[in-house]
Amino acid sequence: MSHESILIKDGILVTMNERGEVIKNGSILIEEGKISNIGKKGEAEKKADVVIEAKGKIVLPGLINAHNHVCQFLARGRAYDIPFPVWDSEYMFKIYGFARPEDYYAIASLCGLEMLKTGTTCVVDNVFTRGVGEADKIAEAFEDLDLRACIACGFMDRAVPEYIILDKDSGLKECKRVYRQWNGKNDKIRVWFAPPGFGMCTEDNLKESFRLAGELKTKVQTHVSATFSAAMNPLWEHGKREVEYLSDLGILSPDTVAVHCVWVNDKDIQLIKRTGTKVVHNPASNMYLAFGVAPVLQMIREGITVSLGVDGLGSNTSDMFEIMRAAAYLHKLHNFDSTAIDAKKVLEMATIDGARTLGLEHEIGSIEVGKKADLIAIDIQRPNLTPLRDAYSMIVYCAKGDDVSDVIIDGEIVMRDGAFLNLDESKIIDKAKERIESFWLDKGSR
Ligand SMILES: [Zn+2]
Repeated sequence: MSHESILIKDGILVTMNERGEVIKNGSILIEEGKISNIGKKGEAEKKADVVIEAKGKIVLPGLINAHNHVCQFLARGRAYDIPFPVWDSEYMFKIYGFARPEDYYAIASLCGLEMLKTGTTCVVDNVFTRGVGEADKIAEAFEDLDLRACIACGFMDRAVPEYIILDKDSGLKECKRVYRQWNGKNDKIRVWFAPPGFGMCTEDNLKESFRLAGELKTKVQTHVSATFSAAMNPLWEHGKREVEYLSDLGILSPDTVAVHCVWVNDKDIQLIKRTGTKVVHNPASNMYLAFGVAPVLQMIREGITVSLGVDGLGSNTSDMFEIMRAAAYLHKLHNFDSTAIDAKKVLEMATIDGARTLGLEHEIGSIEVGKKADLIAIDIQRPNLTPLRDAYSMIVYCAKGDDVSDVIIDGEIVMRDGAFLNLDESKIIDKAKERIESFWLDKGSR
């Protein structure tokens, strides 16, 4: 891909670098897809192919959504205000069991569009395959949108309806195929292994997925102790809580991403810490589905990397500004302490800590010379962002995804002044509407 040089001129740069620098009237030069210079207005500048005037804008690293299930959004507007087991079995299971590849492409395009519009430049999407090419369609959609992504590919091989189950050998073969086909594509798509979690996969699935990920030098993502029963069920079969069970299996490691960790005790937290396992917190989904409150502040105090995720339809949105706000409000309330977590830490969770979770902290997650140019700009000439005093609090407490004006991924401008350069937004929305309606109509006959 030919990279034009880009100069972003005279903005407020929230760098998220080690020193936490915020540069007023700052400029960024992007060459060959990477940040080549940063400085005060006038310092970083040289003639560039494209100049983006950023006066009146905050420029920050693109947001990282470290856990999503785009396919669940096929049930948007259908599955709501119902008990979690019904939400899961009547809607999510039907999607995992019956959605066709073209449904996956349409919904991944729609959610990807929502993510881009609201400032997400990188997502980890967790798909549970039946081996009909679901993961390929998600990867294809993200590739067409120019979104950076990890496809966390897994399969369910126990305790779910027959129409979802894929046996261990076929499942592992399919995940390996997806890895070979997509990992490293355009340097923007990666593939991880993703056994769903103790309740819905066999021990062999867990162990083999982890072993294969190690062999292929990629990562493993799995759901850990999201609910009380998920945390406790291994006690019946193995005499251990879930985290201890996973640790004894050898599944926890610096290349393991544990999603949720709501029902974890002090011992579990020490195991997560000792093994270098990364954690993804999904505050909106945990609240909406009434899972509970993850001990995120304790995990952060222990030095565990905790990033933020959407977690599919449980959040009802793919807007990471809403997720950041949910994280801040949840932990302030839960601790009866309005100082429990600050805006800068929350923004770190959605940027540099997200990059650490993905093992990409040397490439993305902050505005630093040599890093890939994954950047967004927020237009602050808005009533909800006036007056601007502290950029962190403005981003986390006052901004909305709708305030994002510009999106750059890998040094390519995807959205400029609120308009996509290469995407037909209406076409993607109309196509998704059509596919969603047709999916639920067809599903009724099954
Ligand atoms: Zn999930």
